[in-house]
Amino acid sequence: MADPVTGNLVACDLCGAKLAAHASYVVRIDVFADPSLPPTDGADLAGLDFDAAMAQIAAEAAHLTADDLQDGVHRRFEHRLCPRCHKRFLANPLGKPRDVRPASN
Ligand SMILES: [Zn+2]
Repeated sequence: MADPVTGNLVACDLCGAKLAAHASYVVRIDVFADPSLPPTDGADLAGLDFDAAMAQIAAEAAHLTADDLQDGVHRRFEHRLCPRCHKRFLANPLGKPRDVRPASN
């Protein structure tokens, strides 16, 4: 049963802190391919073999899992953060740098 004072408790997805839902932040991230089409000219379109192009796409997709296909189209992440982690997240939403270690001197 929900505590009448704190309401529903949730856990911060970064530090694991338990806090009231109303005091937490939701981070929702949508990752999707840019919907714009690659530039084409008349020659490309005239030379396009639609059936061959579809066959190639189907062949390329055949060895991919449903998750792979979905990843290529759209991914949505949703996380819960405590106020402290929320502040740190906003300061660096992409978590840069990922692979570079900061110089120490
Ligand atoms: Zn946290």
